[in-house]
Amino acid sequence: MIRLSYKYRLKPSTEQVAALEKQLRLCRWAYNALLEHSFSERRAGRGTPTHNALTYLLPEMKAMKPELNNVFSQVLQNVAKRVRSGFESYWARKRAGLKAHLPRFRGEDRYDSLTYPQLGFRLKDGVLCLSKIGDMRIVQHRPVEGQVKTLTVTRSRAGKWYAVFSCEVEVKPIQNRLPAVGVDLGLNSLVALSDGTLIEAPRSYRGAEERLGRAQRCLSRKTRGSRNREKARRRVASACERVANRRRDFAYKTARMIVNRYERVYVEDLNVQGMMGNRRLSKSLGDAGWGMLRNALTYMAERSEGVTAFVNPRGTSQTCSGCGAYVEKDLSVRVHRCPWCGLTIDRDVNAALNVLKRGLEIGLERAEYTPVGEVTATQPSEVGQVASVSQEAHLFRGG
Ligand SMILES: [Zn+2]
Repeated sequence: MIRLSYKYRLKPSTEQVAALEKQLRLCRWAYNALLEHSFSERRAGRGTPTHNALTYLLPEMKAMKPELNNVFSQVLQNVAKRVRSGFESYWARKRAGLKAHLPRFRGEDRYDSLTYPQLGFRLKDGVLCLSKIGDMRIVQHRPVEGQVKTLTVTRSRAGKWYAVFSCEVEVKPIQNRLPAVGVDLGLNSLVALSDGTLIEAPRSYRGAEERLGRAQRCLSRKTRGSRNREKARRRVASACERVANRRRDFAYKTARMIVNRYERVYVEDLNVQGMMGNRRLSKSLGDAGWGMLRNALTYMAERSEGVTAFVNPRGTSQTCSGCGAYVEKDLSVRVHRCPWCGLTIDRDVNAALNVLKRGLEIGLERAEYTPVGEVTATQPSEVGQVASVSQEAHLFRGG
């Protein structure tokens, strides 16, 4: 069994944000009060209070500060646990001879998460229901697997809200895999591997995308509030679902095939590509599908004790994988021909070889890997931003 975290963007309403922030303030108050109590117990020579001892104080604190009843009781118990584990990690670090400091009082913006241990929340059909907060939309771009152990609701520095599910998942290692592969995500739903394999999306995938495009253009021509518009809107919604299903299907089949063969998978970083500002690439509908493939690769690698890592894609298609020379070519040129070393291969396979090289350069330094939670949390919104069609973004948020 391994612990995996699944991180999703939350879309709380204005009232819910206010309620969440109020809970954070109350939890911070409770945290500081329990920490103060722990310090005074230690000063009095009675030792550091246990988690249970701190939990016993909660009813008393609620009587003193009735507002605390607005916080789900288990979330408050988790605050007590955090105080205790602050001391525990202090002792652990000291034992290990590391630099250690006692837990500190938390300032105004130094308390930004609430943890629900197993109870107090419910996840269903793209909606997360939190006790004492209500239902809110959750951007569930991949399913939660295994047994949910805790849910932590966090506020990022930028003021965005996320739900992090910590789950116990069974690992299924795959034997006899080759060590590493580079993956190039080309235009026109084409995946190239550094071993020369070219995988093309099934025709139905492209067909569904074209149908979606037509439905969207049709919708934009209809008058607001008209009955025809409503009909067109429904057609777009169902075309969206079809595209999402085909993409998911293709992404998972492709990822499974790659992960079954290779232990380490290197793939271009979508975020870097977005920053490169290549309009022709970023505007293509394919981007949304590539986000899904990246997620599928990350997730399947983790489940099988492998690794999916992201590398900077800059110049991968223009560089010769044989000698490293810069060989400029237009998007229409399908074959890479190096005038310096004579290498002649498929342009996308050449790019995949460069991705592999870059991946091997970063090696096994964990810091270079984008942790799964981070990847999955940022990708859907990035995809939503770069896709030219707003329905694309909608499709991801809908899950
Ligand atoms: Zn060359």
